[in-house]
Amino acid sequence: MAKYTGPKCRLCRREGEKLYLKGEKCYTDKCAIEKRPYPPGEAGQSRRRQSEYGLQLREKQKVRRTYGVMERQFRRYYQEASRRKGNTGELLLQLLERRLDNIVFRMGFANSRSESRQVIRHNQILVNGKRVNIPSYQVRAGDEVTVVEGARNQGRIQWAAQRSEDLGRPEWLEVDGDHYKGTVKALPARSDLSPSINEHLIVELYSK
Ligand code: SF4
Repeated sequence: MAKYTGPKCRLCRREGEKLYLKGEKCYTDKCAIEKRPYPPGEAGQSRRRQSEYGLQLREKQKVRRTYGVMERQFRRYYQEASRRKGNTGELLLQLLERRLDNIVFRMGFANSRSESRQVIRHNQILVNGKRVNIPSYQVRAGDEVTVVEGARNQGRIQWAAQRSEDLGRPEWLEVDGDHYKGTVKALPARSDLSPSINEHLIVELYSK
């Protein structure tokens, strides 16, 4: 599958906020958006007023980039969300949050979602005791996610676990850091997710 291979920090600067795409660096003062908090490019330093369509597009790009999902797949999540009963925007975010790569990151077993994808593809994650190497795997409430024993002494995983311990984990996840194991207590409610996301803009964009 095609994936973005350009500079990740540029994406954060383009969206005007930290998307936490680079792992450890994102938590240090080397973070590019801390040093240059304006969009990349010469025109970046003078923000132009955006059209409604521009705002909708930017919001979609921000969320898509945050979760590291390609355009086509993102649209499939939207289509799935719009088929279900309930608030389409919230359902869209829930589908994204339920991705295994996101859950591993949120539990603190990886420093970023892209690192999480590597860990998963390297067969280092179990879901309910079985190896799952598909980053987009949809985790359900009650599922147990574990880092395999052989991977627990990796520096990056230990660093992530410590960082997560220090910063705190989401309420909807229960994590046993000592045993590199976590359970999805419940699917996240909208109030559990970032208030800086305006999902209604994405729904408006795709509803045209
Ligand atoms: Fe974004 Fe992380 Fe780069 Fe900061 S260091 S700009 S949060 S990817």
